[in-house]
Amino acid sequence: MKTYQVNENGYYGEFGGAYIPEILHRCVSELQEAYLEVLTSRSFRHEYETLLRDYAGRPSPLYLTRRLSERHGCRIYLKREDLNHTGAHKINNTIGQILLARRMGKTRIIAETGAGQHGVATATVCALMDMDCVVYMGKTDVERQHTNVQKMEMLGARVMPVTSGNMTLKDATNEAIRDWCCHPSDTYYIIGSTVGPHPYPDMVARLQSVISEEIKAQLPEKEGRDYPDYLLACVGGGSNAAGSIYHYLDDQRVKIILAEAGGKGIDTGLSAATIKLGRQGIIHGSQTLVMQSEDGQIEEPYSISAGLDYPGIGPMHANLARTGRAAVMTVDDDEALEAAFRLTRLEGIIPALESAHALGALEKLSFRADDVVVLTLSGRGDKDMDTYVREKTTNGK
Ligand SMILES: *Cc1c(COP(=O)(O)O)cnc(C)c1O
Repeated sequence: MKTYQVNENGYYGEFGGAYIPEILHRCVSELQEAYLEVLTSRSFRHEYETLLRDYAGRPSPLYLTRRLSERHGCRIYLKREDLNHTGAHKINNTIGQILLARRMGKTRIIAETGAGQHGVATATVCALMDMDCVVYMGKTDVERQHTNVQKMEMLGARVMPVTSGNMTLKDATNEAIRDWCCHPSDTYYIIGSTVGPHPYPDMVARLQSVISEEIKAQLPEKEGRDYPDYLLACVGGGSNAAGSIYHYLDDQRVKIILAEAGGKGIDTGLSAATIKLGRQGIIHGSQTLVMQSEDGQIEEPYSISAGLDYPGIGPMHANLARTGRAAVMTVDDDEALEAAFRLTRLEGIIPALESAHALGALEKLSFRADDVVVLTLSGRGDKDMDTYVREKTTNGK
């Protein structure tokens, strides 16, 4: 049977694998050998599920919108990841990985972060588990995302500003990998999305798959069936999308729509539409689509939403796009902003700018009256208030 899940070598079609320096081979093989056994073990499941429930606040509600549904002439549900502790889906993954790290006997956690959201989610679980935490963050991002830096420090993490390259996410990632090479025996590297060398994309997808597991359990009571006609999610690296579609990947009744960030427009040179603009290459230890110049230099992406401006994309998603299993839509800055203001006024929910890209994709689709649509609201908009206020005044919204 054709499957869109990872194969035993860590590939999704042509994408994935583990392209890593020799010195990390032991670390990565150790992880490849350990992760499935741990993640499926009864003691892990128990601890993970208990923390998701009592600490993160799961299950997250599946909310049937009234006015948004009316606008689109179908039934639109929001999967409310914005209501999780720390305000987004990222906590699902960091809880899982820190439990794995402890079971592997690691004592020190490292992570990289762009916007700071993954850094905060990692620092949070490190405080919870009393583990040392070092977060690499480009110096430019440290300056742009000051509140998240303050949160990480309050939680006890050491934030290391990275001054190489453009001083953004890709440079922070390089620095985290360098750290891992120097401390392979005691250090666990928590990656924040479905990216990086195998087994990370599959591991993070599994840890986020609680989203679709819950959708499957929540829909029957509301709709009398356990699958929607459409699933929509935004994609940066791809983790909230992977979690939302995981249990429906091989169910062709479900149409999958991925929304990527168009930035100022895909022809402007200021974009983060990796699937549309990228070519096959290697980034962060994985064979995938990468935004790169003619001679293979990774290009700096741009999006108004800091969580979506990653120059790569998870290998699972590259394969879903290549095979046509998922439709990919580009949503520009202004379309995402409009969608954020619209949801706020229609439903009283201020979404994260990332999630607003998924909402923007709704405008480009037409639905039938009996269509059931589930859209993952990956996070809340508190962190984006400065942008919303600024844009409101400049655009007179
Ligand atoms: C980080 C983030 C994203 C993008 O990451 P994915 O791995 O693609 O899910 C989307 N939404 C929010 C709220 C985020 O914090």
